[in-house]
Amino acid sequence: MSGEFQDHQIRDKIDINYKYTMGGQSKFFIELMNNIKILGTKCKICGKVWMPPRINCSDCYEDTDWIEINQTGTIQVSTIVWYTTSAFIQAVPYGIAFIKLDGTHTAFNQGIFSENLVPSKVKKGQRVRAVFLKEREGKMTDFFFVPESEYERWINKPEYEGGV
Ligand SMILES: [Zn+2]
Repeated sequence: MSGEFQDHQIRDKIDINYKYTMGGQSKFFIELMNNIKILGTKCKICGKVWMPPRINCSDCYEDTDWIEINQTGTIQVSTIVWYTTSAFIQAVPYGIAFIKLDGTHTAFNQGIFSENLVPSKVKKGQRVRAVFLKEREGKMTDFFFVPESEYERWINKPEYEGGV
């Protein structure tokens, strides 16, 4: 008898129902879902505007206030996605960018879609505007950005709409 180890494997499946909380950031997701708004926070002391929102200012550790943020902004850095999870595979290729929304001091990561995606449409400095799914769940995937020049065409598609 050989001393070689043989690993016996059985394929199985686990279904898990669970929920998780957005904690202090919940207001952002509720306003996104119900009112098509993008909220950030503003530090009560130094005035820095955080997007993504922070409950406490990361610079001076003071409390922040919720404020409505512009839905237009500028790409700071970007890339084009060719490999992704099954959730987004049909959208390939699409852009991912750090976007600084107008009036904010920080940037956040979000998808950039275009009817004709070429690198120049996701380059640094490109102006973009948020487009929202009509059927929102209160998730970051409820919205994405498009080049400002394509905005009207995107919000006229039946599954999308513009923000408030
Ligand atoms: Zn501050």
